[in-house]
Amino acid sequence: MQESTCVCRSCVDPREHGFFTQHGLPNYNGLFMARSKGAFVSKPSPTHDVSSTGLMLIQMNKKPVFILQGHRDCAAVKILFNTQNKDPVKFNNTEREFLRSHSDAVEAVKEYATVLKPEEQLVILEKICVLQSINNLFSFEDLNLEHNYNPIMYAYYSMTLPIADKQPSDATQLGLMIFDPEQQVFANTPAPEINNGIRIADLINIQTLLPHDHGPFKITHPIDLIKAVRNEVNFTLANVTPHINKPSMQANGK
Ligand SMILES: [Zn+2]
Repeated sequence: MQESTCVCRSCVDPREHGFFTQHGLPNYNGLFMARSKGAFVSKPSPTHDVSSTGLMLIQMNKKPVFILQGHRDCAAVKILFNTQNKDPVKFNNTEREFLRSHSDAVEAVKEYATVLKPEEQLVILEKICVLQSINNLFSFEDLNLEHNYNPIMYAYYSMTLPIADKQPSDATQLGLMIFDPEQQVFANTPAPEINNGIRIADLINIQTLLPHDHGPFKITHPIDLIKAVRNEVNFTLANVTPHINKPSMQANGK
């Protein structure tokens, strides 16, 4: 497998039109975009857009780099969250569709985040759904990610404020967290008010689309959702924002 190519998954939410701005990308630069409600990657199906895009790239002898980005105030995750206290008999098709792919995330939050306020639980579910999408991607047999090659996957969480009159180009309104597999938690840079979190450009050379050597952020195995929920809950209870530990990125923090 040679050249890498990014497949980016973000939500269909209009605030996520700022995806490229958020990531400091000057243009589309050959990135493959596959957007969906909630940025959800469903469980395996032969026509699935993300996996089939990945498969196409593999057949083109390219190495897909998957970037999955959830976001704050996500309507799709809210629908999923509201199934928590609803009689299953009353689920509508959208709720069933979301549950089919992300019930593990709901169960984990339901079980381990109940000490938090509902709005805090919702934020955690938004993050855990991204991780479940990563796990779902690992379960696609066609891609056979764990055995065919070392997959490169990153999970992001966009903290873009839910304010309609703020443009995505207003960088002060943007912020990105990344899942740090070492800490098993979504983390930010030490000064998010200055650098707005880390971006694709911090991980991947946007000219060549080859990954920089930021191995610590690559997700190479399915994630333990319960462990991740517990970590998110602990940081929330302590009112602390997790920060990334990688010195070189703390220093340049662009
Ligand atoms: Zn959304």
